[in-house]
Amino acid sequence: SVPLTVVAAIGAASKFGVIIKSGAAFERFGTIRHVAVDKTGTLTRNQPAVTAVLTADGVTEGQALEWAAALEQHSTHPLAAAITAAAPGVLAALDVTEQAGNGIEGIVAGSRITVGSPRWLDAGTLGSQVAGLEEQGMTVVIVHRDETPVAAIGVRDELRPEVPEVVRTLTDQGVGVTMLTGDNARTARTLAAQAGIDDVRAELRPEDKAAAIGELSRAGSVAMIGDGINDAPALAAADIGIAMGATGSDAAIESADVAFTGHDLRLIPRAFDHARRGRRIIN
Ligand code: ADP
Ligand code: MG
Repeated sequence: SVPLTVVAAIGAASKFGVIIKSGAAFERFGTIRHVAVDKTGTLTRNQPAVTAVLTADGVTEGQALEWAAALEQHSTHPLAAAITAAAPGVLAALDVTEQAGNGIEGIVAGSRITVGSPRWLDAGTLGSQVAGLEEQGMTVVIVHRDETPVAAIGVRDELRPEVPEVVRTLTDQGVGVTMLTGDNARTARTLAAQAGIDDVRAELRPEDKAAAIGELSRAGSVAMIGDGINDAPALAAADIGIAMGATGSDAAIESADVAFTGHDLRLIPRAFDHARRGRRIIN
């Protein structure tokens, strides 16, 4: 059974937006030495917008966006909303399948359209310009039509304003911070520099994120914070998995030990403080 002091501390945490699922999770929470944070939707605002479209010869920006949006209307990925919003119109799609961490494919107007990361899809002649967009902090997805690269779409998602302060506070608490992301290394490094995070691990597939947690946890207890379906394996691998509440996917919340109801990252150092104080009172 769970001691009453732990029940009280868990109840107090829930009042400031931190839902702790068990007494064991609360006690582990106070031992965390390192925080691994997903980038997209966790460190960033989750208001991505299309800010560049490059097209191959004979393809218009509007066509490329419509083909991509036909698939993305079926996805809950943060990039999908941005692409759907930017498209001039919406076409129907058949046989749509999404691959977590890679992208999405299906049939649009009789052609096979594929939209996804430059690691998964060759950029063709657009390749040299893709790197430039990434260095500006944009996430770039490539669009293929019948296996041919036809466009690159640049999407920008700003860092949440509280992130640099949260990273400084965690560092002052003696807690290390690592960024884990499926996004490319150039985009990730640009955002990490703005955040004040030195340790960046990019181009990770969902199972790579879980492996990175395993490696970090050899030096001490690790908390993982994420919000996507693709974060579920890493949340499960961490000593404490924290799902960002309101926008989090069900899979992420189920894999987590702790959920934040809101999306304010200042809850991270606040919850650590609370859990450490709780441990001192209990022990
Ligand atoms: P993150 O770790 O930043 O949340 P993900 O693992 O969700 O990133 O995705 C990694 C990459 O896979 C994205 O940057 C994107 O290039 C590609 N991707 C994933 N899902 C989609 C999608 N629905 N449409 C287009 N690209 C996608
Ligand atoms: Mg994510």
